This record gives sequence, C-alpha cells and structure tokens, in this order.
Amino acid sequence: EPVVLGPKEHGIDPRMVSNNAIRVTSTLQEAGFEAFVVGGAVRDLLLGVKPKDFDVATNATPEQVKRLFRRAFIIGRRFQIVHVMFGQDLLEVTTFRGTATDNAPKDEHGRVLRDNTFGSQAEDAERRDFTINAMYYNPATQEVLDYHGGIEDIRAKTLRIIGQPEARYREDPVRMLRVVRFAAKLNFSIERSTAAPIGVMAPLIDNVPAARVFDEMLKLLTSGQALACLQQLRKEGLHHGLLPMLDVVLEQPMGTKFVTLALDSTDKRVMAGKTVSPGFLFASLLWHQVLEKWQAYQASGEFPIPALHMAADEVLESQTEKLAIQRKIGSDMRDIWAMQPRFERRNGKNPYKLLEHLRFRAGYDFLLLRCASGEIDRELGDWWTAFYEGDESMRAELVSAAS
Ligand code: ATP
Ligand code: MG
Repeated sequence: EPVVLGPKEHGIDPRMVSNNAIRVTSTLQEAGFEAFVVGGAVRDLLLGVKPKDFDVATNATPEQVKRLFRRAFIIGRRFQIVHVMFGQDLLEVTTFRGTATDNAPKDEHGRVLRDNTFGSQAEDAERRDFTINAMYYNPATQEVLDYHGGIEDIRAKTLRIIGQPEARYREDPVRMLRVVRFAAKLNFSIERSTAAPIGVMAPLIDNVPAARVFDEMLKLLTSGQALACLQQLRKEGLHHGLLPMLDVVLEQPMGTKFVTLALDSTDKRVMAGKTVSPGFLFASLLWHQVLEKWQAYQASGEFPIPALHMAADEVLESQTEKLAIQRKIGSDMRDIWAMQPRFERRNGKNPYKLLEHLRFRAGYDFLLLRCASGEIDRELGDWWTAFYEGDESMRAELVSAAS
C-alpha cells in the first residue's frame, strides 16, 4: 500500500505542473478513471525542477483514452501507449502495466522480450526502475502516492533499484545505463546493492537491441551532464564493456582532451537551452579513431581525401554494428569529418565554396575543437574565424595573405 503525502509534506509547487498535464488527468478523472502524473516528472517536481515532459498513468485502456481526446494516437507494438497532442505539446498516457511474470517470454540471457499486460497501480509501480521514478502525483488532490520509499530516497539523494537488483538488470540491462545517467544528472549516489552487480552484469548490455542502447546513450550524452556521466562510469569501473563506444572514447590517450572539450561544450549548450546535434556529438566522440585510421591509410600511400573517406567508412561501420547509428546521424558525421581537410585549402575560391557548405557551421565548430585540443595549430582556426566573421575586403585580404 502506498504512502500518501499531502502538499505540505511533499512541497510540490503546483505552478510547475503543466496545464496540459492537468487537462489530461482531469479529463480522465471526469470520465471516471484514475489518472496521475508519473515517473520522471514527479521526481523532478519533488526536486523543484521544472519537468521537461509529463507522462500520465491511468487505469483506462488505450482505446478508452483515445476516445476522450481530439488529437490522440495509439502508438507502439510492444506496449501500446497513447500520444495526446495539444498544439506542439505531446503527452504520453500509459495504462497501468503488470509486472513481468515468470512465464513472460525471455531471451536466453533472461531479458524480458514482452510484458504487455495491464495491471494495478501497485504492479505498475513495482515494474518501474528506481524508487524515485515510481511515484504518482494527482494534480486534483495534490497528493503524491509513494509505493517504494521514493520520497526518502529523494531526500537522501539516493538511487535505489526496485526489487532484487540482479533480477531487474537481467530483465532489462538498459537499467544499468539508466542508473549511471540519473546519478550524474541528478548528482545522486547509487545505493550499494544497486551498484554492486553492475560490474559483473554490464556485458548483458551487448544483447540489447542496438537501437535501444543508442537511444539511452544519446540521452546520457545530451543530459547536460555528459562529462559527469562519463566520470561516474569510470568511478564505478563501468566504462569497460558497458558501451563499446565509450571504450574507444575513453581509452585514446590523445583523444581524451578532445572528447572532454566536446562534451563540456555540449553540456554548456544543453544547460543554456540550446539544441545539440547528435551528428556533431558522435563525430566528436569518434574523431580520434578516425584520425588514427586516416593517418594509417596515408602512411600506406593513399591520398588524404580518399584516405579520410576510407577511415570514416571503417569507423562508422564498426560502430553501427553495435550502436545502430541512424542513417541521418551517420551522414552528418561523415559531412563534418569530410570537411576537415578542406579547411586547409585557403587559396582562391576554396574558402568561399566551403563557407557555402550546408553544414559549414558544424564543420567550423569542429575545427575549433581540434585547435583547442592541441591537435592542430590555433592559427588555422583563427584564420577561419576572421574569414567567417569578416566582410568582403577582409576576406579577400585573408585569402591573398594565405595564398
Ligand atoms: P528523463 O527526465 O530523463 O526523461 P524519466 O524518468 O522520465 O527521465 P523515461 O525514459 O522518460 O525517464 O521513462 C519514464 C518512466 O518510465 C521512468 O521514470 C520509469 O518509471 C519508467 N521506465 C523507463 N525505462 C524503464 C526501464 N528500463 N525499466 C523500468 N522502468 C522504466
Ligand atoms: Mg521522461
């Protein structure tokens, strides 16, 4: 049975709850259903942080939810959820789910493949990952329902998995990535028995479909605390084998500076509310691997440009196997890399042509990172900054000086 906390006890500021979330819960409640804000939004509200999105949990079925809203779409094959749209705003409405039963289909490592049964609210709470992610907030009564001691863990800044840690990681190895992501993002510590099995169980992540790992990895890298996340991984001894890409990234002595700078600037962008391009991010993480292969191909007699393309192909191919980098992201990465040697050609029409490249800005930012990390001479970056920001006559002068 849940602990029920009133507004004085939990201290949530009702003004931080989005009007659309209230619209959804109250519409469902007026139709006779139970409905709550759930998961990450409740956690953030309790921490005094404005949630970036609101999920709603209800005892209404997807069909029943859909009927109550004008723009509502049932999505998902594995487990149906309803997307309710108000203008640009999207809310996910999920029917209470049951816990994975012993006879749920699993892969040979014990990963649950399907668990699409409806359940009670208590069961819904039990199948969630961490205690702080398993609370329900009813905007109408302003009550928080806490089934697993989430409030105490919020106060103690602790991440604690619900249930038996080994079993929960086996069911879904992605939870090991999530715990690290949340620890870094929220600056929480990981409770001992929650952390203990990760070192041994991390290789199970290899059996998770690459697309899911990619999604979680992208969330980690764009959390605004990517650098802290990676440092946390290191501290927990988890950077080996947890993510194949991180092994590559964290083990290139020359690349560390570059990656650190890239993640730091990404974190700053996220904190400032700016967008980050996944292509740029992954291009940065893998750059030193590309660089190494690029140099090797040139040493074996290839011309620089084809050598770079060969290196890019090789790196992308080896990563896509495990990480399912989406097509669009892969092509952005390739563009950014391929632009790099063109920055060295500063004579004639070359710089003007490069300036017109659709992704010039990304390529130029990347060049500056290379300068800042000490890989190449600052002078090149400074020249391009002057050229980029200069007027016509300035540009002409720069080009003639460089020719
Ligand atoms: P964020 O702010 O990063 O989105 P979140 O807690 O909202 O954090 P989501 O991935 O959006 O994270 O998931 C929403 C909720 O669904 C979680 O709070 C948790 O209750 C539940 N959940 C998500 N992934 C899992 C999982 N792998 N196993 C169990 N429960 C999960
Ligand atoms: Mg969320």
